[in-house]
Amino acid sequence: MPSTLNQVNPPLNHPKLIELEHALAQSVLTQITDPFLDNHQISLWIKRDDLLHPIISGNKWRKLKYNLDHALSLGADTLISMGGAYSNHLHALAYIGKTLNLKTIGIIRGERTEPLTPTLLELESWGMELRYISRSEYRHYRDYNHWQDLPGLKPNEYWLPEGGANTLALKGIAELVNEIDIEYDNLCVACGTGATLAGLINAVPKQQSVLGFAALKNASFLTSDVQSLLSGEFHHWEIFHDYHFGGFAKLKPELALFMSEFEQKTSIPLETVYTGKMLYGIYDLIAKGHFGQGERIIALHTGGLQGKRGYA
Ligand SMILES: *Cc1c(COP(=O)(O)O)cnc(C)c1O
Repeated sequence: MPSTLNQVNPPLNHPKLIELEHALAQSVLTQITDPFLDNHQISLWIKRDDLLHPIISGNKWRKLKYNLDHALSLGADTLISMGGAYSNHLHALAYIGKTLNLKTIGIIRGERTEPLTPTLLELESWGMELRYISRSEYRHYRDYNHWQDLPGLKPNEYWLPEGGANTLALKGIAELVNEIDIEYDNLCVACGTGATLAGLINAVPKQQSVLGFAALKNASFLTSDVQSLLSGEFHHWEIFHDYHFGGFAKLKPELALFMSEFEQKTSIPLETVYTGKMLYGIYDLIAKGHFGQGERIIALHTGGLQGKRGYA
């Protein structure tokens, strides 16, 4: 781990969490070589949070880390959160729960339908208790933001909002920004809840722009959700809403084609829900002249490759 980390945040407290962090791989910067980029005089790097851990998907570790430390410092032994049938967040949480010997409960959107998705099967096999609730009920759970907010929470239980999107998540995201040791102009990320985007906005030096790519259709909630996680005024950020390709899990042929070409060129695997759409968006913006000549872009690979199963 780079030494800058400890200058920003206090170290983790819980020994098992520290052990887990030490087992993570480095998130390196991979520069993309592509004649298309040369022609537009753009430099592009991918920040490889997908490499951190094969199961604890990139930004989910970053977002969970300080939440888990907080939960453990309170003496909690049960972690409760919510997500869909392909949730990378619950997947990471269930695995961490198993590793740290904590009980986990996942509140799942929609009815239990057979066959279970590969994600749900793994959640069960790692001992996560799954509670299925209706989509309308699920929406109400989105109002519970603070760790104590879940009605009926017991003293040993700790609540995490959807996607782990809260202010403690921002602390973990800041660490990836501090790991970046090259000059750049733009930092790009795919958005679900927007918490990762908020974390980047909060942490980048003032002269850089942060660009978010919405994975969801009708994600107009994103701007205010991101703002509510930030304290203070931040100017250089923007969310693009034109690259959702019809919604969360839709795979359009032009996206599939772009992704397979990108994967062939770079050997960097993408998934269709988040990172594929973000990179498609970046390439499209480059083609349309959105960036100035010579600009340097870093795109965050947020991982999520487990969720690929079932859409492919
Ligand atoms: C969850 C996730 C995101 C979205 O992160 P938010 O902080 O919810 O915006 C992006 N990419 C991948 C791969 C994810 O799993």
